[in-house]
Amino acid sequence: MPNPRSRITEGVVTRFAPAPTGYLHLGHVLNAIYVWEAARTSGPGGRVLLRIEDHDRARSRPEFEAALLEDLAWLGFAADGEVTRQSERGQLYARMLDDLRSRGLTYACECSRGDIGAGPYSGTCRDKHLAESEALGIRVRMGPAIERFDDLRLGPQEQRPSEQCGDLLARDRHGNWTYQFAVVVDDWLQDVNLVVRGEDLLDSTGRQLQLGRLLGRQRPPAFLHHELLMKSPTQKLSKSDGDTGVRDLRAKGWSAEAVIARATSLAGLSRDQLSLKRV
Ligand SMILES: [Zn+2]
Repeated sequence: MPNPRSRITEGVVTRFAPAPTGYLHLGHVLNAIYVWEAARTSGPGGRVLLRIEDHDRARSRPEFEAALLEDLAWLGFAADGEVTRQSERGQLYARMLDDLRSRGLTYACECSRGDIGAGPYSGTCRDKHLAESEALGIRVRMGPAIERFDDLRLGPQEQRPSEQCGDLLARDRHGNWTYQFAVVVDDWLQDVNLVVRGEDLLDSTGRQLQLGRLLGRQRPPAFLHHELLMKSPTQKLSKSDGDTGVRDLRAKGWSAEAVIARATSLAGLSRDQLSLKRV
């Protein structure tokens, strides 16, 4: 993997951040390999934070969280410091939103998912001046800036969040903080300086950079987007394919080393490309 030390001179602070909406699968394992590798090879200041992304209160379940933590420990991935949970950080998110609101950067939105459809949000409620209420979402105004960043694996990137996604939903009509909002606040407040995630999330990097800047983050984190595990060159590996769940493989008698080796080989990585340094 690319060496983050070339870009981050102090120790790498990164995070492993699963959502407790299912069990750990090989895709998570590949992400964990990259995350721990980046932190452990970055010298004494390297840290991995463990964050449970349970911002979606309807889909998150404590039994999934318990299973995620247990499987992670079984695999040998130990995080630094306490586990944080997005469900316990609502006040922080609210304070951040208050700050944006006080600068005129937010507005209430009454659109449902059905109203908006698949494309970017067109800004229907931007100038409606709706009074905020529990039943309305809250959006952050995105500017026309072009966001540029140098991905540690994919190289220089250029994105236009205002065209790609439009004004960003911070809190939805059911009172849930959105993934994008919570993750940007958390990465900033937790001093995360390297975000390691699958390349299916590449497109959301620009909006995260812009939101971070609007919130007041002065130095953005670096990004490393890794490959996704594939069933074939065009098909993503999914849970429904079977044989991808860490629990299932454990039940079949696989060792932690074998599970990690499986994730590495499915990604097409050799030991030379990714020397595994486990804690
Ligand atoms: Zn709207």
